[in-house]
Amino acid sequence: KPFSASEDRYDNMQYRRCGNSGILLPVLSLGLWHNFGHSDDFDNARNLLRTAFNQGICHFDLANNYGPPYGSAEESFGRILKLDLANYRDELMISTKAGWDMWPGPYGDLGSKKYLIASLDQSLKRMGLDYVDIFYSHRRDPDTPLEETMGALHQCVQQGKALYVGISQYSAEDTDRAHAILKDLGTPLLIHQPRYNMFDRWVENGLLDVLGNEGIGSIAFSPLHQGVLTNKYLEGFPKDSRAMKDGRYLKKEQITSEILEKVKKLNAIAEARGQNLAQMALAWLLKDERVSTVLIGVSKTQQIFDNVKALENLAFTTNELDKIEEILK
Ligand code: NDP
Repeated sequence: KPFSASEDRYDNMQYRRCGNSGILLPVLSLGLWHNFGHSDDFDNARNLLRTAFNQGICHFDLANNYGPPYGSAEESFGRILKLDLANYRDELMISTKAGWDMWPGPYGDLGSKKYLIASLDQSLKRMGLDYVDIFYSHRRDPDTPLEETMGALHQCVQQGKALYVGISQYSAEDTDRAHAILKDLGTPLLIHQPRYNMFDRWVENGLLDVLGNEGIGSIAFSPLHQGVLTNKYLEGFPKDSRAMKDGRYLKKEQITSEILEKVKKLNAIAEARGQNLAQMALAWLLKDERVSTVLIGVSKTQQIFDNVKALENLAFTTNELDKIEEILK
């Protein structure tokens, strides 16, 4: 049956300005890295997108090689867009990226103009779109001049294939330079997408300052450390968890007893706040206004409802923050 979005979908979500741009982003965004490939259940993927949109999550994050196989998350997203969300295109922020391995040979990886321009054209075809809202350089290619990579992003905007541009996992220094190059070209740098969570805090060492000073927004990926910053692994390894289902990026061996000891302590603080750990981990990132949105992944619709509840308590006392620091150090 045709999908009709909830009338009240914008009532509970909060929206934050992305840097000094005209764009407001929902404080939770949804990423399609896992659970949207051809190897995943299509009806589940479709339900995840419907549920997210009904909760006011109107920003969907993709990349050329999400799947598996590569490209298939964009294909599934395109199908779902056509089936359910075509009438809502102007209510959606749709992002994609190029920068990691995509096709064989020297032009299907890293940061050349040749790769980025061709990849965005392929992404648009797979998703059935005329343009994306944000196109990213997925990683810094140290062997390609930054001017070339930024020039490619700028060209995509000039051609109308992307409205805004972003960069992912660039160092503070490279971000400063990328910002300056793009500014000269006349295309502002909208957003930076770094990994940021309680267990990975590299952004606090300079990057957030650059973003704050230059008015660039940010979207924190893997805010739950791929699911480790939840209570799911406290009682063992659930069969349907990422660590058990998918050995590609999160390996069971990485979730050591030392990590679980910290998770357990963090979970106790979360419970004292009336939250679970997933909710506290998301709130903890959003305490910094320079974080425009946190980019969650989900395998089940219930996780969306669960994560949205983080908004019920985003404030931290100094005492809570100190206790968290003590555990993380
Ligand atoms: P998270 O850290 O949010 O981990 C997501 C996983 O956590 C889910 O798949 C689920 O795992 C588990 N989870 C989520 N919510 C809950 C909950 N409430 N309770 C229990 N478990 C929960 O993010 P991801 O690592 O998935 O990354 C998010 C997005 O970031 C990606 O989809 C992608 O768009 C982007 N990204 C960007 C990168 C880049 O280089 N720019 C790199 C990596 C990601 P389970 O399967 O066990 O249920």
